[in-house]
This record gives sequence, C-alpha cells and structure tokens, in this order.
Amino acid sequence: MDDAMRIFQGLEHVVRANEPLAPHTWLRLGGPAEYFAEPTTADELRELLRRCDANGVPVRILGGGSNLLVRDEGVPDLVISVTAPAFTEITVNDRTVTAGGGARLGHVVSTAVREGLAGLESFVGIPGTIGGALKSNTNAQGTDIGQWTAGVVTLTRRGETKTYARDGLQFSYRASNLDDLVILRAEFILDRGEPALLTQRMQQLWIMRKAAQPLASQCAAAVFANPSWASAASLIEQAGLKGTRVGNAEVSDRDPNFLIAHPGASASDVLKLVDILRKTVFDRLGIELETTLEVW
Ligand SMILES: Cc1cc2nc3c(=O)[nH]c(=O)nc-3n(C[C@H](O)[C@H](O)[C@H](O)COP(=O)(O)OP(=O)(O)OC[C@H]3O[C@@H](n4cnc5c(N)ncnc54)[C@H](O)[C@@H]3O)c2cc1C
Repeated sequence: MDDAMRIFQGLEHVVRANEPLAPHTWLRLGGPAEYFAEPTTADELRELLRRCDANGVPVRILGGGSNLLVRDEGVPDLVISVTAPAFTEITVNDRTVTAGGGARLGHVVSTAVREGLAGLESFVGIPGTIGGALKSNTNAQGTDIGQWTAGVVTLTRRGETKTYARDGLQFSYRASNLDDLVILRAEFILDRGEPALLTQRMQQLWIMRKAAQPLASQCAAAVFANPSWASAASLIEQAGLKGTRVGNAEVSDRDPNFLIAHPGASASDVLKLVDILRKTVFDRLGIELETTLEVW
C-alpha cells in the first residue's frame, strides 16, 4: 500500500489507485484518476470525504461523464462515482418523485411517465445523472430541470449534510447554486398527466433527438452554451466550421455543437478543436461562445 493509500485504510474495498477515467466518460478520452472510489453507502461516502478533507486530498464527483473532458494527463485527485444502488433509488409518492443523485436522468424520466406524471419527459434522451443534470440545470424543449425541483439534499466537502427547500434553490440557463460537493438526492413535484399521452410525447421527442444528435455509437460531447438569440450549432455552421477536424476529433455533421472523438483521438485534439471553434466564431461573427463542457 503506498503512503497516500494509507489515508483510505479500512476503505480499500471501495478505493483503487490509478483508475483510467476514459471508460467513464462519453468522449472515452483522457488519463487516469490518481484515486477512484465507488462507495456503497452514504456513510462510506461521508467517511471518504472526511478523510480527504483532513488530509488535503482534492475530490471530484463523477456522474454519467456526459459533460466531461478529462485531460490526457488525468487528475491527481480522488474521483468518486456515486452509482451504487444506495445513490440511485427512485421513489414516487403522489406527485413527488424523489431520486438519488446518481440515478440516471433517463430512468427518472421513464418512471415519472409510467406513473402519469408530466414535466420531465422533455429530457428524454439526455444522458447523465440527476446530480449532473441539477448542477448544470439541464434544459431541453424550453424547460429546465430546475423548474420542477422542489428540494435537494447535498453533502459538503467535509461530509456535512445540507438540505435546500425550493426557496433556497436558484437555477438559471445551464447553472444552479448547487455548489456543494455532492448532490445526494432531489425531489421533483410534477403535474398530473395521462400515461399513454405522455409516453407518446416522450417517444416523439426521443425520435427527434436521435435524428438530430450524433449516432449512439459515436463518442461525443456537446460543447457550447446557446447564446439567447441563436443556437451555438447555427453559429458554428455560419462560421463555416462544420466538419472541422484536429487529429481524430471532429465537429459533428449532424449537430455542429457536438464534437466527435474518433478512434485514436486525444483529449488535446478536442481541446485544440474547441479553441479553433471559439476563436473562428469570434473572428468571423464577433460572437464569444461559452463552453458548457467541463474540462478536468
Ligand atoms: C449526446 C448528448 C446530448 C446532450 N444533450 C443535452 C441537452 O439536451 N441539454 C443539456 O442541458 N445537456 C445536454 N447534454 C450534456 C449532459 O448530458 C448534461 O450536462 C448532463 O446533465 C451531465 O450529467 P452527468 O451525470 O453525465 O455529469 P458528468 O459529466 O459526470 O459531470 C458534470 C458535472 O456535474 C458534476 N456532478 C455529476 N454528478 C454529481 C453529483 N451527484 N453531485 C455533485 N456533482 C455532480 C460533476 O462533478 C461535474 O462537475 C448532452 C450530452 C450528450 C453527450
């Protein structure tokens, strides 16, 4: 056991060293995490946070990895994945859906629809977890997840629990005030709907999304926020950048706000491509695009 691993003594069953992060992200790129943990209970998670806090080890939380680009050199931190069953439970009580921070957004959407609860079906086909969705206030079809969120429970870097009621939550375009380290669970209060009609709407939205997005077999990520008056995709296209390629990273021809990592691509190819897109859109159109893709 190396010196740093001693910090995690007694937790070796959930912590490992030098874990490749590429398989945990949608782009399938980037280097390893120095330490990687998959706690199985909230108590184990709290204990990990306390040890890291006491020993000055930086911690990051991994959701579905659909909004992350990990640099080729990896991260010298503890990366915690909250995908164990203790963090993915979904329950329904009347119009309230409660979901763990690690629950797949898609599972929450289909549970709500099956129970005849309307609101979240707009998010069908968006990858990732409830934690990732709340952090960046996932939006689609003119609605965002914050609009339906009635309460959130978080854990701070020190492992302390915090509870946010509706009036303590702030959501704006692709942002929220949920800055605590871990989103543990959230409550959504939804509208009543007809399950058959909701299912139909969900299926239509799913078909539209699948036709417009990169193919499921491609390693892809969405890159820029949409300015209020235009889509980032249309600006990239207007700037003549559709199909631009650096190494094995390429602008998607289906939706230019997505970058595709072809086999052999590196994280640095993607970073260079993002830079070219941002600079060229600014030079040609005078518009500064902001990235939503998070770089680790
Ligand atoms: C094909 C495709 C389509 C997409 N379409 C849309 C779209 O229509 N609308 C949209 O808004 N986005 C879209 N996205 C972006 C992405 O799916 C969302 O940002 C998603 O919410 C990210 O969730 P995640 O669990 O994958 O987060 P990750 O990528 O794993 O992490 C992103 C951030 O969230 C944090 N995080 C994750 N889980 C937790 C947690 N439990 N507690 C605290 N912090 C956490 C991470 O630390 C990190 O800071 C799309 C992405 C792809 C690849």
